[in-house]
Amino acid sequence: MKVIIHRGTHQIGGCITEIESNKGTKIAIDIGKNLPSINEKEEDKIEVEGLSVGVPDFKAIFVTHYHGDHIGLYNKINPKIPIYMGEISYQIFKILQNRLLQAKIISDEDIKTIENFKTFKVKEKIKIDDITITPFQVDHSAFDAYMFLVECDGKRLLHTGDFRTHGQRGKAVIPTLEKYVKNVDCLICEGTTLSRKKEVPMTEFELQKEAEKIFKENKNNFIMCSSTKIDRIATIHKASISAHKLFVCDEYQKEILKYVDSISRSYLYKFNRNVYSYDKNLDNIMNKNGFVMLVRDNYLSKNILNKYPNNKFIYSQWEGYLNPKFTLYKHMQEFVPKEHIYLHTSGHADYMSIKNVCETVKPKIIIPIHGENPEAFEEMRTKRINNKNIK
Ligand SMILES: [Zn+2]
Ligand SMILES: [Zn+2]
Repeated sequence: MKVIIHRGTHQIGGCITEIESNKGTKIAIDIGKNLPSINEKEEDKIEVEGLSVGVPDFKAIFVTHYHGDHIGLYNKINPKIPIYMGEISYQIFKILQNRLLQAKIISDEDIKTIENFKTFKVKEKIKIDDITITPFQVDHSAFDAYMFLVECDGKRLLHTGDFRTHGQRGKAVIPTLEKYVKNVDCLICEGTTLSRKKEVPMTEFELQKEAEKIFKENKNNFIMCSSTKIDRIATIHKASISAHKLFVCDEYQKEILKYVDSISRSYLYKFNRNVYSYDKNLDNIMNKNGFVMLVRDNYLSKNILNKYPNNKFIYSQWEGYLNPKFTLYKHMQEFVPKEHIYLHTSGHADYMSIKNVCETVKPKIIIPIHGENPEAFEEMRTKRINNKNIK
């Protein structure tokens, strides 16, 4: 088994991992676009022979989840190479991409590419010639996100993708690894938070309690978060119910929540009965009873915000977007009021969770990915390497 990290060992996002069996079968895990970073405007060009340039020789691409820094280069890949995603993740990705098509951000050609994606089921083994891939669902800010166990040449490799253990599904991560993965030869592990100090993140449940308090104290509440951050939206939804507030969003957001509700058996994701999509007929009841409304950085949200000048605005996504050094700073200033409450918790594993994963799967080697401080893995007391032949 041979592993090459084309990108991602010293940066957050934009990850592409190549795995090749001794027989020459090649697959890739994730085809991520670089995250928009500080003062960076150039187009993201990644040239991987056999994947995005030259004669295609990758047999398949497996995508851990629908965040752009893991799937954003799907339209740069040779169309002969099949792209696999989790079934639910794929449906949410399609709703989002159709929205981007309407806004002319992507093309009809891109949608055709997406229509050809293949999907996999939780824990269902997929054989690509002599390589076997098993997907395990994990806790992350993207819904239906996966780790992959890759087996070939008698070796076992675990690719964590992005994960955390402090969200609604977090408790299942370690027991799943204990039951199905255990000892691996190689662990490719995300280390997003390892460049920050070792702080213990707020759990989604703690965030829910905090949001509940704010909603009870304030009549009109706007909360900004990504439309596909389903677990956060579930947290806010539960807090809004406890505070007896009307839960409002736009039609597109409602379509996503309706889909999640339809495929989920968990009470956490039962949105549909009490989610209202905004139109001006709702103003009467919003004015009378107060509300919690999901908003994003667009003019529809801004217009509604202007109608309710007496409001609490909660910012519930990455703080970096509000940094003056960041390319999106000016844009965000237009939509995020100076007076806002910051209420957010990371979608990524903290130090102890990563350490727990290492101790559970006991890798012979660790390849750090999706982080700016790979050296931090040294402390996990296991050998760290970069690209490597696993013998
Ligand atoms: Zn990521
Ligand atoms: Zn992610």
